[in-house]
Amino acid sequence: MNKKIYLSSPTMHGEEQRFIAEAFDTNWVAPLGPNVDGFEKEMAAYLGIGYAAALSAGTAALHLAVRLLGVEEGDVVFCTSMTFAATCNPVAYEKGTLVFIDSEPDTWNMSPAALRKAFEKYPKVKAVICADLYGTPARLDEIEAICKEYDTPLIEDAAEALGSSWKGKKCGRFGRFGALSFNGNKIITTSGGGMLVSEDEEAIRHARFLATQAREPVPYYLHKELGFNYRMSNIIAGIGRGQLLHLEEHIAQKQAIYRTYQKAFADIDAITMNPLGGADAVANNWLSCLTLKRDCGVKPMDIFEALQKENIDSRPIWNPMHNQPIYEGCDFIADPHGKENETGSVCMDIYNRGLCLPSDNKNTQEDMERIIGIIRGLF
Ligand SMILES: *Cc1c(COP(=O)(O)O)cnc(C)c1O
Repeated sequence: MNKKIYLSSPTMHGEEQRFIAEAFDTNWVAPLGPNVDGFEKEMAAYLGIGYAAALSAGTAALHLAVRLLGVEEGDVVFCTSMTFAATCNPVAYEKGTLVFIDSEPDTWNMSPAALRKAFEKYPKVKAVICADLYGTPARLDEIEAICKEYDTPLIEDAAEALGSSWKGKKCGRFGRFGALSFNGNKIITTSGGGMLVSEDEEAIRHARFLATQAREPVPYYLHKELGFNYRMSNIIAGIGRGQLLHLEEHIAQKQAIYRTYQKAFADIDAITMNPLGGADAVANNWLSCLTLKRDCGVKPMDIFEALQKENIDSRPIWNPMHNQPIYEGCDFIADPHGKENETGSVCMDIYNRGLCLPSDNKNTQEDMERIIGIIRGLF
């Protein structure tokens, strides 16, 4: 069997163990402890944001953001359609009414034009959730401005975009809340974990409280609010502190992978690489993706299968949420460019024509040549 090449696997440095060892030596294995405090402070400083709460998952961060904004049964929440289910599921946990928003071609993220159309259609909206896919920032200043105009809070799902920025401001810092993920395949990982970030000190204090079962600060067990077991452990936070020291290095590796693909496919007219957001954006290039021209004779799944045969992982683009059986019946607002293709939306068109390429930090020159050779062989 040929050497396995992963889509995006954990890249550890050994340095993480220094923080874990410290936790063991002081028996501060659980709960919380100095690594949790340290990881929160270090991440907040990196992003340039006031406050952070370390949690068990990115999904937990999104759920707490939705709870803190008071989303209840029947409340309308606008959400990016083309994203991972974790972006919108927390709204369903609270029985909110999801309305999905199309992507725009220049970033693949939430279309400001479709968002505006949605606000014109729905007079009362509780929140907007906007994801930054594959490390490319959404048009976050425009989206933030539209939300402000309609007096609606924004949650930025920056799970895939740690280290990316839009107009000089880091992803995660836009809107009322930002959510980060340290899941195994993300740009830095704690094996599993997430963080909620905000400029609102009181909201982050409340998030920490809700994440630790909402125990009132009295010597007996008193609960006035519904709590969750969502806090990050001191061991896991230690891994995060070690990983954070290597974030910039990981980003540089991911950017080099993207550039290698871009150069290798430059002469193939049928292949276009995923957009990085133009001059206003710095993308962390978490995953490199391509789209294929219609009727070029090759389909994304042809590439997927050709790579799989050689023990190489690739992955389809996120299947839009308005296309999911579980969200059947939810409204969807298309971008004007959707008219230009037969699906009627920008995101279904990207989904049909796109593929995520192996983007592992540890890919060697040789690995990259193998992947590129297989793909070029199909044209
Ligand atoms: C990974 C991811 C999440 C969820 O993060 P977990 O830490 O796995 O819960 C949320 N949104 C997006 C866009 C993601 O890619």
